Amino acid sequence: MTRPPADLLVRAAAVHTLVPGEPPRRAIAVTGGRITALSPDPHGLDALAGPATEVVDAPHATVLPAFDDTHTHLVLAGHSVHGVPVHRAADLPGFLALIRERAARTPAGEWIRTTVNWQEVNLAEQRMPTTGELDRATADHPVLVRRGAYNMVLNSAALRLAGITAGTPEPPGGVIERDADGRLTGRLINTATELAERVLPRPGLAERIDGLRAASAAYAATGIGTVRDCLVPVEDLDVLRAARDQGALAVRVRALVSGFAVRTPEEVDGLLDRVGDWRAAGHEDARLSVWGVKFGIDGGFEAGALEEPYQGRPCYHGRLLWEPKELADAVDRVAGRGLRVGVHAWGDRGLRVLLDVFEDVLARRPGLPAGTLVVEHGGLARPEQRARAIALGVPVTVQHPLLHDGALTQRRAWGAERTGALFPLREWLDEGAELSAGSDFPVGPYGAMLSVWGMTTRRTVAGVLGAEHAIERAEAIALHTVNAARLTGESAERGSLRPGALADLTLWPADPLSHPVDDLRDLLPERTVVAGRTVHHG
Ligand SMILES: [Zn+2]
Repeated sequence: MTRPPADLLVRAAAVHTLVPGEPPRRAIAVTGGRITALSPDPHGLDALAGPATEVVDAPHATVLPAFDDTHTHLVLAGHSVHGVPVHRAADLPGFLALIRERAARTPAGEWIRTTVNWQEVNLAEQRMPTTGELDRATADHPVLVRRGAYNMVLNSAALRLAGITAGTPEPPGGVIERDADGRLTGRLINTATELAERVLPRPGLAERIDGLRAASAAYAATGIGTVRDCLVPVEDLDVLRAARDQGALAVRVRALVSGFAVRTPEEVDGLLDRVGDWRAAGHEDARLSVWGVKFGIDGGFEAGALEEPYQGRPCYHGRLLWEPKELADAVDRVAGRGLRVGVHAWGDRGLRVLLDVFEDVLARRPGLPAGTLVVEHGGLARPEQRARAIALGVPVTVQHPLLHDGALTQRRAWGAERTGALFPLREWLDEGAELSAGSDFPVGPYGAMLSVWGMTTRRTVAGVLGAEHAIERAEAIALHTVNAARLTGESAERGSLRPGALADLTLWPADPLSHPVDDLRDLLPERTVVAGRTVHHG
C-alpha cells in the first residue's frame, strides 16, 4: 500500500512526543492537517517526501506539541493589540513618551488607547500616570490609559467626552477618584469604567478581525497553538467566527462565554439560549468551539475572598460576588444544557465556597461527566481545599505568569506568606490534582516557555516566591500540552504527537527539556504549526 506524500516532513534532533514511555523520535510527517508518521531515524520517513512536500531539515532543533494557554483572554488581546505599548515602559517618563510619540502620528481628536497588560507597581514610580501628566503628553487627543479590564486613567479631553466632572456621582460598585481637594485624578475603577466605555468609538468588524489576527499571531509566536479564552462576550462568538472564516485565527480557540453579566435564572437561560442557537447553527469546528460558560465567585489581587483579613485592614476579607445557592443554581442550569463551567476563585475563602457550590451541583447531578466543573486559578489553595477539589474530581487551571506580574500588588494586599503560598503546584501534582496551565493575559504575560520557566523557578517581579511549590520542567510542559488537551476533552486529538492526531507542533532552537533553565524565559519557537499549517515562522 502506498501512502500519499507528506505535506510537511520535519527532521530534528529530537521529537518529544509526550506519549508516556516513548523515547524521542527524529522525524515527523504531516498530511492533511494530521500527523501521519514518526520515526526514530531522521531519514526514516524520506519515502513520504514528494515533489510538493515541505521538508524542514533542522538537525539542531527539538519538536514538541504546540502549547495550550488554558486560561487567557484572546478577545481582550485583540482589542488592545494595536494600543500604545506602555507595557514596555520601565518608568513614567518612558510611559508618557510612548503616548506622546503615538499622538504625533495620530490625527487630532482621535482616541489614543494603551495596551492593558501592565501593572503600575512594576513601573519605577509604582503608580498610575495622572490626568495632568497625560494632558502634557497630548492635549489634542482624548487619551485612555487602561490596565486590565477595570482600571483606567483619562486625560482632560477624554474626561470631557465622557461627561465626567468633579460633580459626577459614583455609580454603584465604581470609583471616580478625586484628590484631597476634590479634583478629578482621572482614575476610574470597576463599574465607573463604563462611563468611559460608552463614549469610546466602537470598532467595526474589520478592525476587530484585524485585532484578532495580530493578537492570535502573537500567541503563536511564543509557541501557543490553542487558547482557552475565559471571557468571551456572547455577541463576540460571531466576531471570532468571522475571523476564523477569513483565516485570521492563527490559534485554535476554545471559548468560555462570559456569565459575568447574568444573575437571575431567566438571565442565565437567556444566555444559554443564545449560546445554544449559535452552536446549533453549526458554527463550530476544530478551529473554534465553545468550551462552556465562565463565572467568578470572588475578586482578584485586591478583592479575592480570604479567610483571614487583608494586611493592615482587619475588617476587610475581600469580596464574594455570589450567594452560594444562587451560583449553584446558575452552574446547575449550565450543566443541564450539557455545557461546562469554569469559575474564577482566587482567595482561600473564595475557593472554599466554590467547592461548596460544586459539591451542591454534583449532588444534584450525580451523572455529570468528569471535567464539567472547573476551578479557574484556585490561587490560594489550602491543604483541605486541595483534598476536596481532588476528591470531587474538579480540574484546576493555574497561571504562574499572573503571580509573576502581580506579586508586588498581591504582597501589598495580602502580605508575604499568602502571596508566596499562591499556586502550590508541587502539592497539587503530588496529591493527584488534574491541573493545566495558562497565563491569564492581560494580567500576566503569555508565552510557552515563559510559563515553563516561571513554574520551575517560581521567579516573579518580587523575586523567588514559594520555591517549595516549584515543579519540574517536564511536568510544566505537560500542564500546557497533555493535561491541557484533557481539560478541553481533546486527548484523542491533541496534546501529544501520535499518528492520527492533529498536527499542532512547535520547533525549538534548543531542547526545552535540557536548555539552561534561566534561558527558558526568552526561548521562542522557530516555527509553530497548527493543523499542519505554519502559523509562525521565527
Ligand atoms: Zn482570567
